[in-house]
Amino acid sequence: MSKVYVIGAGLAGSEAAFQIAEAGIRVNLIEMKPQTFSAAHQSADFAELVCSNSLRSNQIENAVGLLKEELRLNNSLIIEVADITRVPAGGALAVDRNNFSRLITEKIRKHPLITIERREVKALSEFDLDKDFVIVASGPLTSSSLFNDLKKMLGADDLYFFDAIAPIVDAESIDRKKVFAASRYDKGEGEYLNCPFTEEEYESFYAELIKAKTTKVEAFDDIKLFQGCLPIESIAKQGKETLLYGPLKPVGLIDPKIGRQPYAVVQLRQDNQAGSLFNLVGFQTRLTFPEQKRVFSLIPGLEAAVFERFGVMHRNSFLNSPKHLNLGYQHNRLSNLYFAGQITGVEGYVESVGSGFVAAKSLINNYLNIKPEELPLYLHPETILGGLAHYVSLAETKNFQPMNANFGLVPGLDRSELKQIKNKYSLKAKGRRLRRQVYALRALSHYKDVKEETQNLNAQE
Ligand SMILES: Cc1cc2nc3c(=O)[nH]c(=O)nc-3n(C[C@H](O)[C@H](O)[C@H](O)COP(=O)(O)OP(=O)(O)OC[C@H]3O[C@@H](n4cnc5c(N)ncnc54)[C@H](O)[C@@H]3O)c2cc1C
Repeated sequence: MSKVYVIGAGLAGSEAAFQIAEAGIRVNLIEMKPQTFSAAHQSADFAELVCSNSLRSNQIENAVGLLKEELRLNNSLIIEVADITRVPAGGALAVDRNNFSRLITEKIRKHPLITIERREVKALSEFDLDKDFVIVASGPLTSSSLFNDLKKMLGADDLYFFDAIAPIVDAESIDRKKVFAASRYDKGEGEYLNCPFTEEEYESFYAELIKAKTTKVEAFDDIKLFQGCLPIESIAKQGKETLLYGPLKPVGLIDPKIGRQPYAVVQLRQDNQAGSLFNLVGFQTRLTFPEQKRVFSLIPGLEAAVFERFGVMHRNSFLNSPKHLNLGYQHNRLSNLYFAGQITGVEGYVESVGSGFVAAKSLINNYLNIKPEELPLYLHPETILGGLAHYVSLAETKNFQPMNANFGLVPGLDRSELKQIKNKYSLKAKGRRLRRQVYALRALSHYKDVKEETQNLNAQE
């Protein structure tokens, strides 16, 4: 009798195991925590959010918001729990990280068809791939023995880049007299705490930030930083003004004390439901811990901040997937082997969940010997789930880089097609906004009637 295994109970692996079990198939979920922890994981629970507690936008006219909605419509475990454990974050879906992981772990533990094994998988030879089905969802910090085994087996190129994670501070240590609560352009209910800088304060902060000591990273010259997650000090070194157009941009934020936009702003986002922790938005860093304390305490409102977690640098490993995987995240040659999550070259929490979902669906069809006559909806190229699957399996292999959800992944529309859909739904938006709304409605209309979504979009105009 064939067995089904999922390696890694992270975001992708938890979603995959749950979907497989919900299809009536027994599955073994293998997780190395708590015996072994990667450099970023700290909790024994599943689906741990290792950095930000935000799953990013929850609006369908944003590609990652649309991806969430597609997953919601497909009964995703992770998005269901994210909705239950959400904390206020304007138009974003942010969660209480501990409750989020705890609830997912509980739901998986209670599932009658999921068996949990707490151990590290060191090599794929532990499985009989002629008979058993395996999803490798061990993440960007896959343990080195397994990653080396994969490289040997796949002949995969040594692809990796470095990322950095942002610090978290204790809410009670924030000076409330200095910061103000507001969301950019008043979207939401003032869920962020904003630390406003005068020009002089910004100058002093900037001067210290660019000369602060950073941690040494092995093979320093080889570091490939992912542009979407640059450390704050690297952005700062691009020029004095660069931060003012990036993580410290003040636009859309009015400080009630001065009645206008401050010179610069650092935003703090609530990190847990109790509201006792806040993270520094966009402050991924590789400054040494004492330097983080010294320099970030120059941020107005954080002079006496207690740092509950400092930012760190980490290694992020991924395969050259277009060489090895097909549209269903299935290995080209070994048909019982699947990959899911960040290790496939999707980038981000929700994207990892999405690939876990698709890999599970592909495995289920394979296991049950179902051959769909048409491309399943979750692989439709006009959806973000489908767009990501196409990217991972068909992108250029020479410079393959991880990819976030974005509308560049779905087929474009010329003017007349755009106009046609605009008229069909009587959309009021214009320009780029209209295009994004049209992409969103086009994707969702594969699943359902989009009357309600259309009304909501028009109501915002
Ligand atoms: C430090 C860091 C910060 C990040 N910050 C963000 C962010 O803020 N926002 C965002 O959207 N994305 C972020 N990412 C990217 C990505 O979204 C996350 O890494 C995400 O958790 C990936 O999901 P996953 O399921 O692929 O891997 P993971 O969630 O990492 O899950 C993999 C699981 O596999 C287990 N495992 C590893 N090796 C083995 C083995 N050999 N045997 C058994 N179990 C094993 C691990 O313990 C882990 O539980 C970050 C990545 C890193 C590394």
